[in-house]
Amino acid sequence: MLSATGIEKAFGGVRALSGATLECSAGEIVGLIGPNGAGKSTLVNVVTGFLKPDMGSIVLDGREIAGRDPQRISDAGIARTFQNLRVFRELTVRQNVEVAFLRCRQLRPQKAAKVDVDVLLAEFGLAELADTAAGSLPYGTQRWMEIARAMATAPDILMLDEPAAGLNDEETKRLGQTISAICERTGAGIVVIDHDLRFINSICARIFVMDQGRSIAVGEPEAVWKDPKVIEVYVGPEAAV
Ligand code: ADP
Ligand code: MG
Repeated sequence: MLSATGIEKAFGGVRALSGATLECSAGEIVGLIGPNGAGKSTLVNVVTGFLKPDMGSIVLDGREIAGRDPQRISDAGIARTFQNLRVFRELTVRQNVEVAFLRCRQLRPQKAAKVDVDVLLAEFGLAELADTAAGSLPYGTQRWMEIARAMATAPDILMLDEPAAGLNDEETKRLGQTISAICERTGAGIVVIDHDLRFINSICARIFVMDQGRSIAVGEPEAVWKDPKVIEVYVGPEAAV
């Protein structure tokens, strides 16, 4: 359903992406991992239109979307959250989620018909906070709200950039359960970036591993963790022999 191949992106002399690949099907949770600076956020930014790729192809449901602007890509069905929070702080939690929903209802009424803002708020544990100003909520709660807001656009693909950052173990576990539940309920494909490998292994059917702008391995978690290239990146060269 989503297929990004041969993606290249340089910032001046820095080659942030040089041959990156990412795929995600409907109803699938895919992990995107790699050390700091590997290019994970840049790849998500390119797929969602916040950055233009220098080269490469991004196909969503058979249509080439590389280089389109972020709003058009969002309207085409790819939603995301950011590594750093972006919430409307003055608006209530419900208003934050509704802003996204109303645009979707205008542009993709058939998809929007499947979205119920109250169900989303409940699913993310936000029902009782619906009328609270988003900016006054704890960091972790704002992260939940960002995901609920992304889901309010009835996306075919949801991309989460480090959703577990700043969450404690209990919250991370609950986040994993919620991500799995929304994947099952909505059939969306979900791409998750995270450094918590236990978290990634517990929810992902497939993992894409990046290092220095390249995709170095892809597969089911068990196979990926046996791959010498992955061991070298995560444990060090001597362990990979
Ligand atoms: P990750 O998310 O895997 O930690 P990033 O995609 O943020 O990695 O960064 C990949 C590389 O691109 C890093 O070397 C980073 O410093 C560089 N980079 C990312 N964004 C920019 C930017 N806007 N300008 C210049 N360099 C950037
Ligand atoms: Mg990042």
